Amino acid sequence: MSVNAIQHAIKLIQCESVTPVEAGALDYLEDVLTKAGFRCTRLPFSEEGTADVDNLYAEIGDGAPHLMFAGHTDVVPPGPLDAWTHPPFDGVIADGRLYGRGAADMKGGIACFLEAALEFVTTPEFKGTLSFLITGDEEGPAINGTVKMLRWLAEANIKPNHAIVGEPTNPNYVGEAIKIGRRGSLNGWLTVSGRQGHVAYPHLANNPIDGIALALVALKADELDHGTDHFLPSHLEITSVDVGNETVNVIPSEARCHFNIRYNDSQNAGDLESLIEEKIAGALGNLDLTYSLKFQRSADCFVTPPGPWVKALTDSIFEITDIQPSLSTSGGTSDARFIKSLCPVVELGLCNATIHQIDENVVVEDMAQLTRIYSAFLKRYYAL
Ligand SMILES: [Zn+2]
Repeated sequence: MSVNAIQHAIKLIQCESVTPVEAGALDYLEDVLTKAGFRCTRLPFSEEGTADVDNLYAEIGDGAPHLMFAGHTDVVPPGPLDAWTHPPFDGVIADGRLYGRGAADMKGGIACFLEAALEFVTTPEFKGTLSFLITGDEEGPAINGTVKMLRWLAEANIKPNHAIVGEPTNPNYVGEAIKIGRRGSLNGWLTVSGRQGHVAYPHLANNPIDGIALALVALKADELDHGTDHFLPSHLEITSVDVGNETVNVIPSEARCHFNIRYNDSQNAGDLESLIEEKIAGALGNLDLTYSLKFQRSADCFVTPPGPWVKALTDSIFEITDIQPSLSTSGGTSDARFIKSLCPVVELGLCNATIHQIDENVVVEDMAQLTRIYSAFLKRYYAL
């Protein structure tokens, strides 16, 4: 079983599908899935100012329950080719590992689910619907990918009951973690303006750095919260403080800082923005400085409350690996942030130690394990 998963992964790695190029990766999946009886729909999308992107939706069966597997065949660029031990688009197996760009993120994960699904849909235990939502625009701007596919699904009246994103979720070993949510992300920019002047005549100037220093202290002063059942405390990190002053004798006219907040499910972007506005007003309100504050909401927080279907997943992991996976909400964002508006979604895939790196690779036995986990889960899920 797992041998086929590895063959699928090698075929996918050999497609140089660096975002936004399709390079035959979706063609390969469409071909394999069509032969297995899936109804495939290619979903190319475009938008002015962005590259055209091809995507694939495939489904088999009808009615409920409907499990959707989601993933992406696009990969990040390989970087300097001569730095790779094995060429990034060859799919070489060496020392028990499969090497190549996308091996872990996430052609390997797609191959495992593909193999488990192809086998499962031929068994009498399969009833309802099983589908694949595969985008070619996850690593790029993510404009012509999952977001537009979800809109298409809504228009076509297709609503899965649950979804699994096969992103590499595990830091060390397969079965270590299921991601059941992600923190929200809010960016903020503060610009403080004063009056430029000679450093020897400070009474004729007004230094914005004095103001931004107080603002930074206020921003970091209190904890935002103490965490929730599934999340660590929300956290504000200052990522840049800039004045751009190349002289030693000029008081600058402007100082800027940038910060990012990763927040949990006890917060929302609007309330956080109000809180930050209050803090900055408190710090700068009595000074003779002006300032502007700008926000950008880059991802909403979401959590999929564990229920019977998540238990079916953790039970399957335990059956195959003897490991009780943690239900994690750490890490960056993935397309699960969009899919959560369609149906409950979790992420489970391979290990993430080498993703986006030179010599990205996946342990061959990990792929066999993950395929077994997906297989065990499909049995449990469709018997719920
Ligand atoms: Zn990925």
